[in-house]
Amino acid sequence: MSDLGDRLLDLLYPPKCAFCGKLVRGRRMICPDCEAGLPTLAPELQRQDISHLAVCVSPLYYTGVVRHSLHRYKFGGAAAYYRVYAELMAGCLHTQALQVDLVTWVPLSRKRLRKRGYDQARLLAEEVARLTGLPCEPTLEKTRNNPAQSGTSSAEERQKNVQGVYRTVTSFAGEHILLVDDIVTTGATLSEAAGMLLDAGADEVFGLTLARTVRNPGNIRTDSNGESKYADF
Ligand SMILES: [Zn+2]
Repeated sequence: MSDLGDRLLDLLYPPKCAFCGKLVRGRRMICPDCEAGLPTLAPELQRQDISHLAVCVSPLYYTGVVRHSLHRYKFGGAAAYYRVYAELMAGCLHTQALQVDLVTWVPLSRKRLRKRGYDQARLLAEEVARLTGLPCEPTLEKTRNNPAQSGTSSAEERQKNVQGVYRTVTSFAGEHILLVDDIVTTGATLSEAAGMLLDAGADEVFGLTLARTVRNPGNIRTDSNGESKYADF
């Protein structure tokens, strides 16, 4: 878009911080306070072992402002947040020095895509690919509209809920694929999708999400009253 077009859009819709909603200057949708205070993960905590994945990496904990921001992104129509999220994710990819040839994403079902109007993981994957100069392609489609993972309780239930719901739409023998999603909880969804990519010939599959849930909240800093700041995911 032209500079003039950009400036006009800024006047009509002043850019706001994707995390706290304060007005921000420039095109970056993050304010200095949030940038300094996000629940970011130390490099060694960004990595998680999930079956079928070489590794899964995430820059943030899914908690506090991140949880609320992602909720607006997925359910409140705040699609523009993909820009700042992808920037954080590309930074994490760089920190972890993962060697990949192709970026792809965990797709929504057609029904949910129609309802939401955009595929939140696709927006992230395409922007991460743009920022890193990698190609981005759809590789999977959803074969049925299973209930949302957030409505399931146990890890076992989550695994059953996603079994057989993806199929590959292209072949990619020998490729090192980066599979993008917004959040990782137990890893059941990413694992199921990565398994399909490996079956279709991928050499390795890496996971990249904006946020991960806290497995061991005991490690997270707490308020003086002893309550965890990050216990609300
Ligand atoms: Zn902010």
